[in-house]
Amino acid sequence: MATKKTDDIVEAAKKAAKKVAVKAAEAVLDVAEAVVEQAADAIKEATTPIITPEMAKIPAGALEQKWTNYKNHQKLVNPANKRRLDIIVIGTGLAGASAAASLAEMGFNVLNFCIQDSPRRAHSIAAQGGINAAKNYQNDGDSVYRLFYDTIKGGDYRAREANVYRLAEVSNSIIDQCVAQGVPFAREYGGLLDNRSFGGAQVSRTFYAKGQTGQQLLLGAYSALSRQIGKGKVKMYTRYEMLDIVLIPDENGEKRARGIIARNLVTGRIERFFAHAVVVGSGGYGNTFFLSTNAMASNGSAAMQMYRHGALFANPCYAQIHPTCIPKHGDFQSKLTLMSESLRNDGRIWVPKKLEDAKRLQAGEIKGRDIPEEDRDYYLERRYPAFGNLVPRDVASRAAKERCDKGYGVNNTGLAVFLDFSDAIQRLGKDVVAQKYGNLFQMYEKIVDEDPYENPMMIFPAIHYTMGGIWVDYELQTTVKGLFCIGEANFSDHGANRLGASALMQGLADGYFVLPYTIQNYLSDQIGVPRMSTDLPEFAAAEKAVQDKIDRLMAIQGKRSVDSIHKELGLVMWDFVGMGRTAEGLKEGIKKIDAIKKEFWTNVYIPGTADHLNNELEKALRLADFIEIGRLMAVDALHREESCGGHFREEYQTPEGEALRQDDKFSYVGCWKYMGEDQEPQLVKEPLDYEFTERKTRNYKS
Ligand SMILES: Cc1cc2nc3c(=O)[nH]c(=O)nc-3n(C[C@H](O)[C@H](O)[C@H](O)COP(=O)(O)OP(=O)(O)OC[C@H]3O[C@@H](n4cnc5c(N)ncnc54)[C@H](O)[C@@H]3O)c2cc1C
Repeated sequence: MATKKTDDIVEAAKKAAKKVAVKAAEAVLDVAEAVVEQAADAIKEATTPIITPEMAKIPAGALEQKWTNYKNHQKLVNPANKRRLDIIVIGTGLAGASAAASLAEMGFNVLNFCIQDSPRRAHSIAAQGGINAAKNYQNDGDSVYRLFYDTIKGGDYRAREANVYRLAEVSNSIIDQCVAQGVPFAREYGGLLDNRSFGGAQVSRTFYAKGQTGQQLLLGAYSALSRQIGKGKVKMYTRYEMLDIVLIPDENGEKRARGIIARNLVTGRIERFFAHAVVVGSGGYGNTFFLSTNAMASNGSAAMQMYRHGALFANPCYAQIHPTCIPKHGDFQSKLTLMSESLRNDGRIWVPKKLEDAKRLQAGEIKGRDIPEEDRDYYLERRYPAFGNLVPRDVASRAAKERCDKGYGVNNTGLAVFLDFSDAIQRLGKDVVAQKYGNLFQMYEKIVDEDPYENPMMIFPAIHYTMGGIWVDYELQTTVKGLFCIGEANFSDHGANRLGASALMQGLADGYFVLPYTIQNYLSDQIGVPRMSTDLPEFAAAEKAVQDKIDRLMAIQGKRSVDSIHKELGLVMWDFVGMGRTAEGLKEGIKKIDAIKKEFWTNVYIPGTADHLNNELEKALRLADFIEIGRLMAVDALHREESCGGHFREEYQTPEGEALRQDDKFSYVGCWKYMGEDQEPQLVKEPLDYEFTERKTRNYKS
């Protein structure tokens, strides 16, 4: 008996010892794994290519002197030589049209392309609310520095200081230019230009033309463009879509952009065009999400063409979600409608305080006007007393989501909050409100079939603008020589979040006041380059690649419409790469996007033929690129382990639910280099050193 007991004790001791040994080994393994992981991260970090300020061509000197210094020392092209140089401009939005008109006015020969049947139907025409400038007409303390500072801060300290300062600096010239063109900006009773306020600023600096600012600015740019078309300096190609960029090596073997391959959308013909430089102002890629406030034809294909040729794609994950859009109302919807941010000047945002009221609203038993004042939660005014309803868009969007996630949504889907004008109507009178916002109210009534003067509007956040885009240096040149990128298509000056009314400012700054100078610095070396034949092998190869891609798509003849696959992509983007992102969700999203890519390339159905007008083929070509962009957005979002601006990683938030940046680790522009079809892209960093501003936690509370 005694021996058995001893044996048992020995056995138990052995087991215990084994357990301890296994645990110890596991702990050692964990430590080893962590060390290996850290070492791998360190190697990755050490081998990540870096873009220096010199490579970004940021001029030396004091912030306010940089642009002046640049202009004083840049190389110029004399008038006789300008006549010998051709420039292709893709796009006729505010960026493209202003660039094409200005370059032609200066004497260059411009070939200008757009998808639409008229330059003035570019997406820019949809812009409603206004354009910022530091005129300080209201005498409320505005200045170039303040506009610069608000833009840097609004972008959550993820933008380049030198570019943003230049943007603020030229903002005033834009207003002068547009007024001279006859743009009918709103005026005060005394005749002076009027201003209103937009989110993220405590001054009134937004110039506007009712709720149609983009349309009026585009008509101004279009008249300047038309003048040059009339003079023969701009050759306009409407209903043409660029499908590739042609690069030709120079005498040193360095590849330079020398032309494009474009499809005539009416005849289906593929054509070749030469130029000494190519400028792309093709707009943003928000339609990756299928449902967005962008125009239906807005796309990211031109950006992807640049990317595949070696231009870096910067900050693809930075997409802006706009808080005031008309909520989605059905599964067959193909577009979302924006209600301008300007409405937040006078409208107050709220949801019910009581869950039972929210439930009755969701069931359609009561209307917003039936809820008494004391039962309303003006949550933005409550959470952010200093800025109230005028907090920046990312903050307002997340706050709306937070309320709806908690069950306080006010429509049948539970995904809407109120934007209420009853106070403003009482304070100003219905006529004044109608004068300021009448066309927006009318639009709302037509879509929702409810009178917003009588009952508060319902709004919900939607994808609206993409801050990410093609990386450009201070000269707006990409990493490919001779290839420039302007407007929303470049990674721009807005950092991780765009403040309202600053995209029009950037597009027109790029086109009227920046590119016309900087492109000369490049072209001054090109005056000896003769016009090249489009019979060169590089043109032939590029055309063949485009034709092969079209043939491949047309041959699939599968079972799914382009839209059905695009909708599926949009849902994955919204659910996994949308307003709240997590590492787990992003990894899942990438897998789903890969599956969608496979489905697209094996099962899409494109009716008709490729040799004449074919809208489905156009959409399929764009969707092929949206799938790639969607993946790139997810990859970028996964690598950026912080929350900043429109990029909200749920793992990185303060206890109050605000975005938590990691300045020590992620204060850089995250650029991605194309490494080949189905290969993972390579990360390239441009560190952002804040020399002239102190990085602070954004605070809109006090
Ligand atoms: C509803 C709405 C309201 C807005 N309101 C405001 C506002 O009030 N204030 C503000 O500052 N911003 C606003 N914005 C943002 C602003 O309108 C856009 O960022 C800006 O207009 C983009 O201008 P863009 O010239 O860069 O591009 P776009 O206006 O999008 O023009 C792109 C051009 O490129 C062409 N194109 C594209 N791809 C190709 C191709 N492959 N080949 C040939 N041509 C091509 C198109 O045909 C088009 O001409 C708003 C945006 C939306 C969606």
